[in-house]
Amino acid sequence: MKAVVLRSFGEAGNLKLETVPMPRPGRGEVLLRVHACGVCYHDVINRRGNLPRTSVPAILGHEAAGEVIEVGPDTPGWKTGDRAATLQRMSCGECALCKSGRNSLCKTDNRFFGEELQGGYAQFMVAPVGGLGRVPASLPWNEAATVCCTTGTAVHTVRTRGQVRSGETVLITGASGGVGLSSVQLARLDGARVIAVTSSEAKVRALKEAGADEVIVSRGLDFASEVRKRTQGAGVDMAVEIVGSATFDQTLKSMAPGGRVVVVGNLESGMVQLNPGLVIVKELEILGAYATTQAELDEALRLTATGGVRQFVTDAVPLAEAAKAHFRLENREVAGRLVLVPPEA
Ligand SMILES: [Zn+2]
Ligand SMILES: [Zn+2]
Repeated sequence: MKAVVLRSFGEAGNLKLETVPMPRPGRGEVLLRVHACGVCYHDVINRRGNLPRTSVPAILGHEAAGEVIEVGPDTPGWKTGDRAATLQRMSCGECALCKSGRNSLCKTDNRFFGEELQGGYAQFMVAPVGGLGRVPASLPWNEAATVCCTTGTAVHTVRTRGQVRSGETVLITGASGGVGLSSVQLARLDGARVIAVTSSEAKVRALKEAGADEVIVSRGLDFASEVRKRTQGAGVDMAVEIVGSATFDQTLKSMAPGGRVVVVGNLESGMVQLNPGLVIVKELEILGAYATTQAELDEALRLTATGGVRQFVTDAVPLAEAAKAHFRLENREVAGRLVLVPPEA
């Protein structure tokens, strides 16, 4: 089969199309014909060699969608022709964390596609079925591929961790990225009033179209006073913190008493200074949100198929152009999400 293989970490040009042996599914696994695989900034970090669990040669890609063409032994519930999309990471399904529904915290099986497991930059891939969601028949492959990292993460963040309630006001930082646009749509769908923060004037229209009630363009990242103004001094009930260290202080200052801050991104891997007094007197809750569970991916795929949440796939390019795709992503030349499309034969 054809696959894009990374033989040494480094620049985008190291991603090269090769012919490699066909993988075979083992126990609890299926073989997928990959129809689309999203390219995520996580893949760029991986390609540079900054993810310790990846060893070369590697086939990257954790945003794959495809059709089951072979089912391994002892793999109940899956059959040839089923449509599937990958989760970012595996979980064992057996430990106390998995049994309580917190699969994204499982330590027994925390393998990632594109790291320990072969990824989706290929015509075919083997996937353990615990790492797959079910793609509704009406959902195009290009959209299905990107759902996990955008809407799947938003379902985990806004609903599971944030417990958004109808009538609440929700602040979303870094709102114009993939997780942001999905979070805006989902919070609105669940009846919240959404205040989106972006650093770019050019993103205002997309955010309004996604359903943001208010958009604050904040280049200097000093949006708390503007949030207070637009909430009549009350502050917000919940915040989805996607930017992380650079906006965290302003987000805390934007919170209403009893507010919940759900932290899902830390783009610059920075540190924050925190005044515990603010957390104490306002009884704030600071929550982390990490990855997506199988049930959340199924829900995200369903929401996308029924039009509740839109995907923003702007680029679909042949698998052979993976290197160019990485180059463009690194140079901010991709407006929405980009997917690679493997050759059919
Ligand atoms: Zn991703
Ligand atoms: Zn587990």
